[in-house]
Amino acid sequence: MKTTCHESVVPSAPSCILSEPPAEPLAVLGARAACALEQSLQRFVLAGDQNLGHLEVQAAQDVQNLLREATQRAAQAKADATPPCCPVCQKDLSRLSAGHARTFDTRFGSITILRTRGYCKRCRKWRVPADTALGLEDSAGYSPGVQGMAALLASKMPVEEASVVLEHLTGVKLPRATLDREARRQGERAQRLRTELDQQATTAKQQLELTLEPYQMIIQMDAWNIRERDDWGQSAALRRAGQQPERWHWVYTGTCFRLDHRGQTAGGRPVITERGFVSTRQGIDALREQLHAEALRRGLGQAASALIIADGAVWIWRLADDRFPQARQRLDFYHAVQHLAAVGRALFGEDKAKLKTWLQPLVRQLKNQSAIKVIRQLEAALAGLAAGPAAEAVAREVNYFHEHQERMDYRAGRRAGEPIGSGPVEATCRQTQCRFKRTGQFWSLRGDEALMCLETFWRNNRWHLLFPHTSPTNLARN
Ligand SMILES: [Zn+2]
Repeated sequence: MKTTCHESVVPSAPSCILSEPPAEPLAVLGARAACALEQSLQRFVLAGDQNLGHLEVQAAQDVQNLLREATQRAAQAKADATPPCCPVCQKDLSRLSAGHARTFDTRFGSITILRTRGYCKRCRKWRVPADTALGLEDSAGYSPGVQGMAALLASKMPVEEASVVLEHLTGVKLPRATLDREARRQGERAQRLRTELDQQATTAKQQLELTLEPYQMIIQMDAWNIRERDDWGQSAALRRAGQQPERWHWVYTGTCFRLDHRGQTAGGRPVITERGFVSTRQGIDALREQLHAEALRRGLGQAASALIIADGAVWIWRLADDRFPQARQRLDFYHAVQHLAAVGRALFGEDKAKLKTWLQPLVRQLKNQSAIKVIRQLEAALAGLAAGPAAEAVAREVNYFHEHQERMDYRAGRRAGEPIGSGPVEATCRQTQCRFKRTGQFWSLRGDEALMCLETFWRNNRWHLLFPHTSPTNLARN
C-alpha cells in the first residue's frame, strides 16, 4: 500500500501500471487505467485457470492508482479551499503558515497533502482547519473511510483477525496494534457522541408525532459477566492484602421496542423491525440512563403504556421503579417455570417422572390461569413438609412467588398479545457475548466499553452518525 507520490519522474516506458507523477491530468490517468483494464480483460479471457474472481481483483488494482490520485487531489483542493478559521469557535486564525505536510492511508492507498496551520487566540490552540474539513482531526494517520472500517471490524472480531480480514477484503494494511488503537479511539468518540445524543433525548421536548394506533413500549433488561484484567499482575499483592482479584464483572444490557413493530418474516420467523439496544460495563446507573434515553428515542414519550419484562434480579425491579415508574412489570415466564422446577426438585429429588407429572399442570395453570392458584398449591406442599433442607428450599421459592406475584399476569398478557418472556434481551446478551466472551480473552473497562459502544451504534442503525460518509444501515434483527 506504500506509494511514493512526490517524485516527479516522467515514465519513459508507456506502461499503464507504474505509479504516475501527480502533474498528469486525471483524464490521462483514466486513459492509462482503461488501457490496463483492456489488457487485463484480454489476459483474463485467455487464461484457462482464471475465473471472474481473478478479474475482480485485477480490475481493482488497475484503477487503484487513478482513485488514489483523484483522492489526493480532491483532498488537497479541499484543504486549499478551507478558510483559515478556527473549526471550534469560528474565529479567524493568526500566525498562518502553509505547507504542513500530512501523510495518511485511505482505502486507495497512502496520500500526502499540504495544509495551513494557524493559531486561535480565543481557544489558545494551534489549529489545522483542513484536517477538520477532511475528517482527519482525531485520527493518527487514517482517512475516515479506513477509520470506519477499522472500528466496524474490531467491534465484530478480535483485532488480530480484524487486521487480516481488512487487508484481505480491501488491501488496506493496518497492523494489529494500530488497528486496536484506532478502533478504541473511535469507540471513545462513540461514547462521547452517545452521551451527547442521550442528553438530547432526555432534555429535548419530545416531538409529538401523530400515531394512528396507540402502541405499547416493551423494555427488557439483563446482565452477564465479562472477564477483565483490571488487576493484571497484581493478583499476588491483592491476595497478600486479603482481597481476591476481581476478574469477572457485570455487563448490563437492555433492549426496547414498540409492540406494533413485532412481526414475522415470510418464513414465519418472529422479528422485531425496529429495536433499541443498550450495553454497558459502567454499572446499573449507566444502564438506567442509557436505556431511558434509548426508550425515549424509540417513542416511550408517546407510548400508550410501557411494559418491563425481565428475570427476578433485584436491581432490575429497583431500576424499573426508579426510572420507569409508570411501566407495568412482568417476570419472564421461563424464569418463573425454573423456580417451579426448583420446588419440584426439593419435593421429588431425582425422580424425574414424578417431577414432570407434578410440574406440567402447574406450568399450564401459571400460563393460562392465575399465579395465586399456583402459589396456594406451593404453600400446601410446603405445609406437608417436615423441617429440613427441602422445606427451606420450598419456603424460599414460595417467597419468590409471593414477591413477584403481581408480575405474573401471564394470562392477561397472552390475551393482549404481549410477550411473556424476555427472549429478545437474552438473545442480545448471547450475541454480544459471542464477541466479548471468547476463551482466554481479557478486557479492560476502558477497552470493552469503547468497543461495546461501537457495537450498539451499529445495532441501533446509527453508524452513519459516527461516520457520516456511510449510509444508514437498516438491520432488522433479533
Ligand atoms: Zn477557536
